[in-house]
Amino acid sequence: MMCAFCGGNIEPDKTEYVEKQGNYIVVIKNVPCEKCTQCGEVYFTGDVVKVIENILNTIQYISSEITVTVIDYATKVA
Ligand SMILES: [Zn+2]
Repeated sequence: MMCAFCGGNIEPDKTEYVEKQGNYIVVIKNVPCEKCTQCGEVYFTGDVVKVIENILNTIQYISSEITVTVIDYATKVA
């Protein structure tokens, strides 16, 4: 697999996934990804995207103030 942007090599890595829903900011740490060694573009596999969606679906966005929630991906994958 090669980077769609620059054609560089892609290697397994971990990253932080940040999702914003209004005032709500969700940070998921230690998300497995494929990362371009040249330009840093990050790719997620379908399985990882599903887990991210599941995590985001469990969160209730009820706060009217700016709230940051940090979740560790590893704790959500049994
Ligand atoms: Zn690249």
